[in-house]
Amino acid sequence: MKAHAYAVVSEGRPLEPYVIERRDPRPFDVAIDVLYCGICHSDVHQARGEWNNSTYPMVPGHEILGRVTRVGERVTRHRVGDLVGVGCMVDSCRECSPCRDHHEQFCEKDCAWTYNGTEMDRTTPTYGGYSTHVVVNEAFVLRVPESLDPAGAAPLLCAGITTFSPLRQWGCKPGDRVAVVGLGGLGHMAVKLAAAMGAEVTMLSTSESKAKDAARLGAKAFALTRDEATFTKLAKSFDLIVDTVSAPHAYDDYLRLLRPYGVMAIVGVPPTATPVSAGSLIMGNRRLVGSLIGGVAETQEMLDFCGEKGIVADVEVIAASKINEAYERMGRSDVRYRFVIDASTLRS
Ligand code: NAP
Ligand code: ZN
Ligand code: ZN
Repeated sequence: MKAHAYAVVSEGRPLEPYVIERRDPRPFDVAIDVLYCGICHSDVHQARGEWNNSTYPMVPGHEILGRVTRVGERVTRHRVGDLVGVGCMVDSCRECSPCRDHHEQFCEKDCAWTYNGTEMDRTTPTYGGYSTHVVVNEAFVLRVPESLDPAGAAPLLCAGITTFSPLRQWGCKPGDRVAVVGLGGLGHMAVKLAAAMGAEVTMLSTSESKAKDAARLGAKAFALTRDEATFTKLAKSFDLIVDTVSAPHAYDDYLRLLRPYGVMAIVGVPPTATPVSAGSLIMGNRRLVGSLIGGVAETQEMLDFCGEKGIVADVEVIAASKINEAYERMGRSDVRYRFVIDASTLRS
């Protein structure tokens, strides 16, 4: 089956229309008509080769939302017509200890990433959601609550789970003081989810113009990180910091904002390394941790949580012809708060 897509055909090129072939559904496969696909900053990093792991042609996109159009004869979890999502992974070995523990992102044989990777046969390249159709094994297809707006739900498949997972891992609960660093796609989901879990959220941002939005999203306070006074005023304030920033910045400055035993969870992936001083960690037994998306079961839990609470992303729906412009704008932090591609515009 032919799918209309947008791809980076070779290194250094912008996104452009491209046609790919999708396999016929195998017994456990689900064929999905894509309705919307979110644009994650990880797409930008990889499309531009910023992580030194890029293979081309690349069809990015791992915030895929659509409807099931066909199912293989042994599929039991999904039916034709269901609203479904696909996130960052499309397969894993299913047998190793992380896979059995529902942490497929840490599969010992390496999971099959949705794009810029290969299927588990390690030869067939994977192509992501900037395309009209995807075909994915049912075990990696998520149920999306019908009550949610489909365009707003697409970003839950990466931005949602990536921020939900560290909040859950570190026990975010009512009354906790949580800071979110960077108000972009991940950051705005972190604010909504932490607020929904009952935390008192402070937004730490470089963009003064986003202060009003932060309050609307659920933040109780807003502080500018370009203002040095912020770091003295808020010293030793937070139980948990979720850092979503995509560019290099001084982790030490933020660690000092943690209370004793506080946790700073890094989810943003700046392309270059950042030094951390021992003192920032030792003074207060502070913990600096990372977090990578979330497993399939946890992603379903997050979608169900968002269904119950009515949480979706704030999106700017764009035509495929605007993808390159959206990438430029994300580079300037000009995103409110997730670009989502209307897949019907991929055909033209
Ligand atoms: P995004 O929408 O572009 O938002 C990033 C935000 O970071 C910006 O809006 C800006 O917020 C802030 N920022 C940008 N440059 C900055 C700088 N130089 N100094 C300080 N703040 C800056 O990106 P995203 O899609 O949320 O992704 C964020 C990062 O998470 C990316 O590196 C992405 O690859 C990574 N990611 C990781 C995972 C994971 O599993 N760990 C999953 C998905 C994405 P303000 O305007 O508020 O300052
Ligand atoms: Zn992502
Ligand atoms: Zn495995």
